[in-house]
Amino acid sequence: MTDNRNKYIFKNEAAIVLYKDSILDHSIGTPVRVEFNFEKIWEFKRQKKRRKFDPKKLHFVHVHPPNFLELSTLDINCIQGLSIAFEYPILFSIVCFDEKGKTTGIKSFRYDNGLIEAKPKLGGSSLLCLKLLSAKTNPNNSYD
Ligand SMILES: [Zn+2]
Repeated sequence: MTDNRNKYIFKNEAAIVLYKDSILDHSIGTPVRVEFNFEKIWEFKRQKKRRKFDPKKLHFVHVHPPNFLELSTLDINCIQGLSIAFEYPILFSIVCFDEKGKTTGIKSFRYDNGLIEAKPKLGGSSLLCLKLLSAKTNPNNSYD
């Protein structure tokens, strides 16, 4: 019998949205895509308005399947869209884990008159959250 306790099995792309160091939202997608709950983030911005919402503190992060650290066309459209919506080059990152659950790569980008690679900054608790979410079965899709 194999011991799967320490194994990471990627099931679905997963995403979190951070504001400073707090997780504002999380989502589980399918094996090939995940959506951010944009309305929820927009509502947070709206409520925060009086206490100053700072788009610099926003960070959209999602997990890709192991060894796939490239941006998809959808990702690029998303980065552009976020930057237009928030009128700021929002930080956007992709994370990959290996079968042992180790982080094998983080790539971060901003869109400012073109795609720019940014410095990744993700805490251990965010990475753990993403790892657990992406190893989860999404009850709302039929891929599993
Ligand atoms: Zn992606």
